[in-house]
Amino acid sequence: MIDFSHFDNLISLTSYFNSDRICKQAIVEARWADGDVVCPYCGGHHCVPRKDGKFRCKHCGRNFSCLVGTIFENTKLPLIKWFVAMYLISSHKKGVSSHQLSRDLHITQSSAWYMLQKIRLLYSQDDATSFEGTVECDEVYIGGKEKWKHKSMRTPHTQGRSTKTKTPVFGMMERGEFVNAKGEVENITYVRAFVVENTNKATLQPIIQQFVDNGSRIITDELNAYNGLSELGYCHEVVNHGAAEYADGDVFTNSIEGFWSHFRRMITGCYHDVSDEHLQQYIDEAVYRWNTRKASETERFSDMFTKSIGLVRKWSEIRVGLMAA
Ligand SMILES: [Zn+2]
Repeated sequence: MIDFSHFDNLISLTSYFNSDRICKQAIVEARWADGDVVCPYCGGHHCVPRKDGKFRCKHCGRNFSCLVGTIFENTKLPLIKWFVAMYLISSHKKGVSSHQLSRDLHITQSSAWYMLQKIRLLYSQDDATSFEGTVECDEVYIGGKEKWKHKSMRTPHTQGRSTKTKTPVFGMMERGEFVNAKGEVENITYVRAFVVENTNKATLQPIIQQFVDNGSRIITDELNAYNGLSELGYCHEVVNHGAAEYADGDVFTNSIEGFWSHFRRMITGCYHDVSDEHLQQYIDEAVYRWNTRKASETERFSDMFTKSIGLVRKWSEIRVGLMAA
């Protein structure tokens, strides 16, 4: 497989991937590293290459391109434009808008928007890893477009924490450490966040149980929904926002509040307005940026490339899994 650490700038990336053939070659090498091409339709092995660049499965007899099952499947755009899009998105801290991307890649804005939607699928949060140690939990309400609506269109009694016009989002953040290149121990935090139906105990606590290991220390605000976490086997500590001006030792939720500001900045700085339908995807993007912020651009690009050629899970499937838990 290609060593992506060479591509630490756009020029080196575009000089290497200068044709669809080279891009496809990289995809084939990465997908089937041992040279054993597997049929995406039936799972059959020993597929043979055809003259037109596709493969033929000896088992089911179907022809397929190396793009089947990747985010590039059925695309009419040159693959290099996808690679550049992934590179730009992974290297810009606040993301890239579809307007900007359409200008940078010289494509229509609707193509750019479609591309961004596909690329965002790569940010889906996996549900295999759980948090441990000290974990901050917090909830926010995103949205509130009421003020832009005409008076007659506004929903009555919707000030503050109302789910009538705002969407509740729940987040968990693990405080951890890692050893940097210089051999020093640095603090790092990892976050997970989801759109939730509401911020009731019955909604939030099963999510905590799914994603935070038993015995961990959980720090929350005073919301009633967190009552009873101690009985579930957690060491639960509550931040008293009302009583103290300063955080009490390390009992604070400032780290996850930092993530919420990062998220809000991303929304206002780049995407302006986010419909509920797409909110989870923007959250996933912000989570990905946060969790990989100590990684280099080439590491992030390499990670995105790897995900782009695998089968991608939709966020909605993850969310359905959550609600069923
Ligand atoms: Zn087959």
